Amino acid sequence: MAKHIPATQKYYEPEIECMPRPQLEELQLQRLKKMVAYAYENTVYYKRAFDQAGVRPEDLKSLADLARFPFVNKKTERETQHVGSFFGEMCSVPEEDVVFMATSSGSTGVPTVSPFTAEDFELWQNTEARLFWQAGMRPNDRYVHGLNFALYVGGPDVIGAQKLGALAIWAGAIPSDRLMFVLKEYQPTVIWTSPSYAWHLGEIAKEKGFDPKKDFNIHTIIVAGEAGGSIHSTRESIEELWGAKVVDFYGLSDIYGACAAMCEAKDGLHIVEDQILVETVDPTTGEVIPDGQTGELVYTTLCKKARPMIRFRSGDIGYVDKTPCSCGRTLARIHVTGRKDEMFVVSAVNVFPSDIEYVVRGLKGLTGEYSIRVYEQDFTCRYEVSVERADDSDEPFDEVASRTMAALKAHIGVRPRNVIVYDAGKLGTSSAHKASRFIDERKQK
Ligand SMILES: [Zn+2]
Repeated sequence: MAKHIPATQKYYEPEIECMPRPQLEELQLQRLKKMVAYAYENTVYYKRAFDQAGVRPEDLKSLADLARFPFVNKKTERETQHVGSFFGEMCSVPEEDVVFMATSSGSTGVPTVSPFTAEDFELWQNTEARLFWQAGMRPNDRYVHGLNFALYVGGPDVIGAQKLGALAIWAGAIPSDRLMFVLKEYQPTVIWTSPSYAWHLGEIAKEKGFDPKKDFNIHTIIVAGEAGGSIHSTRESIEELWGAKVVDFYGLSDIYGACAAMCEAKDGLHIVEDQILVETVDPTTGEVIPDGQTGELVYTTLCKKARPMIRFRSGDIGYVDKTPCSCGRTLARIHVTGRKDEMFVVSAVNVFPSDIEYVVRGLKGLTGEYSIRVYEQDFTCRYEVSVERADDSDEPFDEVASRTMAALKAHIGVRPRNVIVYDAGKLGTSSAHKASRFIDERKQK
């Protein structure tokens, strides 16, 4: 059932979104205690892992005590799925209680399945409605869900839009010509896609003679799945192209399609802390590090029944900000800087692809497309960046290369070994829904 909330109301669930932090942390602790006990009693894997680590649910007396419990990661999921039953050893309910499953893309190995009970599914969609409302969607909006529906956990998020009362158009990953038809004929106001596709779609719309600002009616573009939505220069380029605001969402196939979203302050993404607890740990040692410091983000689900995730190491590097946000929400904000497996170290500097994107998208005379190759030479990690010169530029390639290199050196601290310049459209990175721009040739990661 859709909730009926006046469109002028700022928050979808103010009692949760603006809950004073001490109260919120008390709620988290109560839910965490229940979840840890539930996982121990109902899940083959957690029973074994807690016993091996010598911890019991009753050892958890404060949120900080969670640090005594073992981690799980993608590998744990892969190794336990289908063991003993279809959903395997991390699933806490019999299969007949599971009503939906999504899978991960498998981009980092065998796809992992993500099961939901009916109650999990309902709670998830309610959460999506809350995040859509936070992004500015209201019942009078027409919403185009431009995400893949096939096996992907982002697919059912569309139901969240319906829950808040918007008109949902289930477009999925249709060819760009058909999507442009939808944008022109049905005049939707909100769309969700990846940042690279939002950019690409705007560009091809212009090529086809449309002005995305005038011919379409989009006021909000929701993006997820790549770092771009949180990179200021990328967001501004897409906003300028479409005349619409860009709101970054963050999700994990292991938990929810969206777990966190930007607010109007555009300073990090509020995570649904009433349902997901976030910790930051040292990516090497696994030690918990204080809020505000950069490390690997670790998530614990507080409500999911089909497969609890207790201390899931996401592989995402970032930091958590629990200071008050100007939007009035008290829920912590996460800032994701990149993937742990995409971080590379050049001359003792940690570099993320998102750092390079920030520079490339901010430079004039380039199309904004890029790719990065990381490799080893003489036992030293090096990187090389390819960019495209804008269509309307006649600047010599070597000049484009040298100022790109100088900008990368100034922002990152270490220069690339090489910058290769292509003509606009020749790099071949712009057509995919989720662009692959990172070529990793390191032997040891
Ligand atoms: Zn905020």
